[in-house]
Amino acid sequence: MEKHTDVTRRGFLTTAATGLVTAGLAGLVPGKLLAGDKTKTADTSKKKIITRKLGKTDLTLPIVSMGSINATFPGLIEAAYEAGIRHIDTAAGYQFGRNEQMIGTTIERMKVRDKFTIGTKVYLGGRREAAPEELKSKFRTTFEGSLKRLKTEYVDILYLHDAQSAADPQNPATMEILTEMKKEKKARYIGIATHTQIPEIIENMIKAGIYDVLLVSMNLTMDEDDEWLRQIKNAADAGIGIIAMKTMAGGSRWPNADTRRQYSTATIARASLKWVMRHEHVTTCIPGFATYQEMEEDVSVAYDLDLTDEEKNLLSDNNITYGLGFCKQCRTCLASCPDEVDIPKLMRTHMYAAQYGNLMHARATLDEIPKQNGLDNCLSCDTCQAQCANSVDIDRRIRELKSMYA
Ligand code: SF4
Repeated sequence: MEKHTDVTRRGFLTTAATGLVTAGLAGLVPGKLLAGDKTKTADTSKKKIITRKLGKTDLTLPIVSMGSINATFPGLIEAAYEAGIRHIDTAAGYQFGRNEQMIGTTIERMKVRDKFTIGTKVYLGGRREAAPEELKSKFRTTFEGSLKRLKTEYVDILYLHDAQSAADPQNPATMEILTEMKKEKKARYIGIATHTQIPEIIENMIKAGIYDVLLVSMNLTMDEDDEWLRQIKNAADAGIGIIAMKTMAGGSRWPNADTRRQYSTATIARASLKWVMRHEHVTTCIPGFATYQEMEEDVSVAYDLDLTDEEKNLLSDNNITYGLGFCKQCRTCLASCPDEVDIPKLMRTHMYAAQYGNLMHARATLDEIPKQNGLDNCLSCDTCQAQCANSVDIDRRIRELKSMYA
């Protein structure tokens, strides 16, 4: 299942540096580039990138890919390609389509379409209850917009974006349109992307029998005996290719003072990615790096999954794991709120704003919440807190959101 490519660490370091120069951006993002950690990357000069096969597809991918949600300049895509990354994940909704546009233009200019695996997603949001023909038509129109922006006739993986209920994988309209896109050769493979209701969604995905790929939240805050992890393994055993997201429990730039005092962001990033990718049934992960330095930290993991002593310490430190307070989107808290506030979506909004620093995506996520379930409805009664088994400090995050958006 696992292979090593011919992209060497030496080549990566050289080409990543070249990327900085050719992009002409070294001086434009000093905050991000200069404020990073000084922790030395392990010497992997003699090692090769590890690759794994994606389920029953004919794709074999490096174990670290590029999540593009936070990427805002073409040089990063060029440098990622030169570093050995061969799979990029985007979505029709990222940066209101501009993310796909940047990826399409860059890949066309580099003339590497046939070497890059592109995954994109179509989000149907509140339209799930719409009539089947309307749903299919909306999906098709949105996806055709994606193809145009990506400047390609097909994508390698097409996902239903953000499946939210157990019924979503078996929705006849979305199953039909995804299958049609495959038959029309506009998508080589089809899948589901989800952050929530993972065991139920996976169970129905396997039953549906049409899906090739699962893009799913997976990170070190999940215990090994977690039902979510068991179901992800079940999906892999059923031949569905597994791609992991939210691998850093919301980002290595987590503003948890204790964690940050003890470990560098580079160590947090590498330990987090290694934790995920040491599960061999996971093919690849899509960290959303936004700078060359973050990319270098993330790609270094693709050469070597052995843990350093410092990484072992971090991973065995329960205070750190709990301190991350990752919202698993389990929705347990929802029923407890007397004002029907959409707490999980607010927690995601907070993650995008405070951890990703992606205010555009945070705003878009916030705007998806119906007014009657929105931020203004929260009276800070704190009733929900007792329901959360994942140490999410809900009230603090909602107060921070209010200071940003109220
Ligand atoms: S805040 Fe806690 S209970 Fe609510 S969805 Fe997130 S993890 Fe679940």
